[in-house]
Amino acid sequence: MNPAKTPEFFPFEVHAIKYATVARRQSENFIGGDPHEAGERMDYFVWLARSAERTIVIDTGFNEAAARRRRRDFLRSPVDGLKLLGVDAASVEDVVITHLHYDHVGNFDLFPRARFHLQDREMAYATGRYMAVEHFSHAYEPDEVIAMVRNVYAGRVEFHDGDAQIAPGLSVHHIGGHTAGLQAVRIWTRIGWLVLASDASHYYANMNERKPFPIVADVTQMVDGWARLRKLADVPQHVVPGHDPLVMQRYQASEDALQGIAVRLDAEPAATDQEESS
Ligand SMILES: [Zn+2]
Repeated sequence: MNPAKTPEFFPFEVHAIKYATVARRQSENFIGGDPHEAGERMDYFVWLARSAERTIVIDTGFNEAAARRRRRDFLRSPVDGLKLLGVDAASVEDVVITHLHYDHVGNFDLFPRARFHLQDREMAYATGRYMAVEHFSHAYEPDEVIAMVRNVYAGRVEFHDGDAQIAPGLSVHHIGGHTAGLQAVRIWTRIGWLVLASDASHYYANMNERKPFPIVADVTQMVDGWARLRKLADVPQHVVPGHDPLVMQRYQASEDALQGIAVRLDAEPAATDQEESS
């Protein structure tokens, strides 16, 4: 970490909470992947950033009914996962929604006090012309998009256009690519600037091996987004992908009792040979 860059913020602790998982084919994880080959599993996370002053939840995950509908292995409600870390969803005031796909935005009825931080372009995309095409609409749930529109009318959505600070030491950054309005989150921690990529890179391999993920609105924006993520972090190793099971292996459990459930991300990850040194 470069001390010259050290801001005077309270550092956030950052946790990834795993709430579901599913087996995948290679072709479901990488454009051009072999449809016959089994791929890496996909893990599903919500994230918690907590400082001495603020508690911010990043994404709200799906619930058991959605898991059944989409045949995912549901492990626990994201809200129960937050509870294990001492956070009551009902009292959370700020929730960053990285994008409106079903696995990032279910359950928001369980956050009755929250203000939702969303990119203008995500709402425009999720309610616009491309939703008439199954490739683009498949990962959205119309009822959830409509519920978010209701939240707009209730004054509970704070829109952002590009980069915006949510709290001292925590900001959102429009990346696009996977969806038109996807945003990543940059967080000041004890190890410096950490970046939650969310679905700007589902797996380490998407960004590190430059292999785009097949659910995509704009492949060129997705590719540009990988470089952007690296610039936002102090070092490339501090970019955390959105769905990679390696995250649970490379970071320590948040507490002993939370093995396999939650890991603490504001720590140096165990190195793997998948990492590029650039
Ligand atoms: Zn996702």
